[in-house]
Amino acid sequence: MDYLLQHQYRVVTLDQVVDRIKNAKKMETKTLAITFDDGYEDHFTTVYPILKRYDFPATIFLTVKYVDGYWESEKAEGGRIKALCRKHIKEMQREGLIQFGSHGYSHVDLTGVDREKRFFEIRNSKVCLEDLLGEDVRFISYPFGAFDQEIKNMVRRAGYRAGFSIWNTKPDSYSIRRIPLHTRDGLMRFRFKVSPLYFATRSLLAKR
Ligand SMILES: [Zn+2]
Repeated sequence: MDYLLQHQYRVVTLDQVVDRIKNAKKMETKTLAITFDDGYEDHFTTVYPILKRYDFPATIFLTVKYVDGYWESEKAEGGRIKALCRKHIKEMQREGLIQFGSHGYSHVDLTGVDREKRFFEIRNSKVCLEDLLGEDVRFISYPFGAFDQEIKNMVRRAGYRAGFSIWNTKPDSYSIRRIPLHTRDGLMRFRFKVSPLYFATRSLLAKR
């Protein structure tokens, strides 16, 4: 975040990004939006205080089933990771810097389940989150970044404004690509990933 501030990046909301994409306008250079998937407790305890310090807006994509619960993870101490609770979600929503989207209901790979289950994951996660937040849930990020044409159609019909994936060669407003950042990314790699070189390099490699 310090690097972004020092180098005069403009951190905007997802709505601002989606407006540009829907109007087929190019993003200005050094403009980006920040998103987080899954919704772990440390999004409140660690991430949120940092974002507040820089006044950077962000979107957290919540997996509905785990709100107030735990994720199982072999990598975590004790085999599980605490998810965000309703209280912290509501607090972040109230203060206005963080927006929430859906990351499905139970984090299944949508391309690996039948139509009925897909519909449940897409539609029910939206309904549940709207009940929790008391506002329209406009965005979804696909678990594992996995989607196909039918999933995109379903997401549009369910009333979402946009869908988010990771790298893909033909992005549109229901498969907007994002740059994945990993724990092991150091500052050099981070700088590369937020530079225009990142997508250019990915495109070049994909053409081979
Ligand atoms: Zn995820």
